[in-house]
Amino acid sequence: MSCKNEIELKSLAAGGCLCGAIRYRIAPGPVRESGYCHCRTCQRQSGAPAVAFFAVAPGRFDYLKGSPAGLRASDHATREFCSSCGTYLVFREDDAAATIAINTATLDEPALIPPLYHIYHDSRIGWFETADDLPRHARGL
Ligand SMILES: [Zn+2]
Ligand SMILES: [Zn+2]
Repeated sequence: MSCKNEIELKSLAAGGCLCGAIRYRIAPGPVRESGYCHCRTCQRQSGAPAVAFFAVAPGRFDYLKGSPAGLRASDHATREFCSSCGTYLVFREDDAAATIAINTATLDEPALIPPLYHIYHDSRIGWFETADDLPRHARGL
């Protein structure tokens, strides 16, 4: 059985919100984390049962067009989203040395970065399950 723990972005990746007001790019390099989050905050902000996200060093992420609105739903981070169409894009820790998490489905090619685990599985919605055998963590990592 193979265990895929490392994902590398081989070239520049781009993405953005539904309406096109906000575009971003991510420089090539290692992806430090990639998973599904089932926490209630992500569910409410996205309007979806779970959010797939991945994290990179913050210096590799840039907005190319537009600027997002921010929501402080926790005391250590800002959730950035498009104020026109509402797309939830980024989870940014206050700690500038921490990774920045980007919501995978907002990439132009989201298939590039598959999730490797589930977090906050404790708050998974009972009718929602994914067909994978990835590790399921009750809360955060
Ligand atoms: Zn938008
Ligand atoms: Zn979450």
